[in-house]
Amino acid sequence: MNNDKNILQDSHARKHTYLRISLTERCNLRCSYCMPEEGVELSPKSHLMSFDEIYEIAKTFVKHGVTKIRLTGGEPLIRKDISVILKKLATLPVELSITSNAVIIHKYIDVLKQNGIQSINVSLDTLDKNKFMFITKRDQFGIVYANILRLVKEGFNVKVNAVLIKGINDHEIIDFINFTKELPISVRFIEFMPFEGNQWNFKKMVSYKDVMDCVQHSFNSKKIIRLQDSPHDTSKNYSIEGYKGSFAIISSVTNPFCDSCNRLRLTANGQLKNCLFSSTESDLLTPLREGKSIEVIIQKAVLAKFKVRGGMDTLKKLQEPKLHNKNRSMIRIGG
Ligand code: SAM
Ligand code: SF4
Repeated sequence: MNNDKNILQDSHARKHTYLRISLTERCNLRCSYCMPEEGVELSPKSHLMSFDEIYEIAKTFVKHGVTKIRLTGGEPLIRKDISVILKKLATLPVELSITSNAVIIHKYIDVLKQNGIQSINVSLDTLDKNKFMFITKRDQFGIVYANILRLVKEGFNVKVNAVLIKGINDHEIIDFINFTKELPISVRFIEFMPFEGNQWNFKKMVSYKDVMDCVQHSFNSKKIIRLQDSPHDTSKNYSIEGYKGSFAIISSVTNPFCDSCNRLRLTANGQLKNCLFSSTESDLLTPLREGKSIEVIIQKAVLAKFKVRGGMDTLKKLQEPKLHNKNRSMIRIGG
C-alpha cells in the first residue's frame, strides 16, 4: 500500500468521502427500469455481508476519510436486521442516510430518528395510482404517498426521486413540480440509465434539456429560480418562486458529473464498485472473512477508477449494449 497518499484518492485527484452500501438484492417492488423482467439471480445468503461485516468494512472506509454513508438496495428496509445495522453504523462519525421506496418506512420512523437519520430519499415515479401499479407491478401507491407526507411531518429532509421515461411518466413533470408548492421536499428527476436487462434505449430517456423545456413552457421564466448546488451534488437544483419545495435534475446520461465524483459503492455481497457504471468489481468480503487487510484492495480499486462513467466516456459508448450490459442490474448495485 502506498502510505504517502490517501487510499481513497484516485488518479484523477478525486477524494472519495461518500460510501453507498447496498444491504440487499431483494425488493418489495418490481420497477421495470431497475429490476429485469426475468428477475435477478440472487446471491446465496452466505455470500451476503452480515451486519458485523458491513460495520467492519464501513469502519475501514471511515478511517480513510469517508464522512457520509447512504444505505440502499434493493429495498434496504426489508433486511430483517436493519435496526441493528443502523445502530452499529450510527456509532461511526458519519452522516448516515437512506434511500427507500417507503412502502414499509412508517414502521421505522422511531428507529431512523434514534439513529440520527435526518435525510431520506424516496423513490416515486408517478402521482397516479394506476401508473404506479404499471411501473412497480405492486399496488402500493397509497402507502408510499402517505409515508412521504408522514416523513415530512416527522421533520425529515425528504427528496423524492423520479426516473422519467418517455411515454410513461414524462407528462407528470409539472404535476411533480406542483407537488413542491406546499411541501418542503425536493423532487429529483433522474435520467433513465442503462443497466443489464432494463430494456434501456436512448429514445426512452427524458433528458435534462427535455425537463427544462417543459418547465420553461409552463412557468414564467422569472419565476424559475436556479438554486446553488452543494459541492459534489449530482443534481442541478431549481425552485419555483413562492413554492415551499424545490426540484432538481440528475443528468448522469447527457451531462455526467464525474469531475466532482466522491462516491464509492459496496454491493450487498461485499463487492466494491468504484463507479455506478463500472463493469468491474473488487471483492472485499472474501479477504475480510480470511482475516486479511482490505485496504490494499480498496486502494487498487480506487486508483483504477475511470475519469468518466466507468470508461463509457461518450454517449456513443454508453449506448453500446455490449458495454453497458456488462454492468449488474441496478437492483443489485444499489443506486
Ligand atoms: N429501493 C430503494 C428505492 O427505490 O429508493 C433503493 C434502491 S434503488 C436501486 C435506488 C435508486 O436507483 C432509486 O431512486 C431508483 O429510482 C434509481 N434507479 C434504479 N434504476 C434506475 C435506472 N435505470 N436509471 C436511473 N435511476 C435508477
Ligand atoms: Fe426496488 Fe428501488 Fe429497484 Fe424499485 S428502484 S425495484 S423500489 S430497488
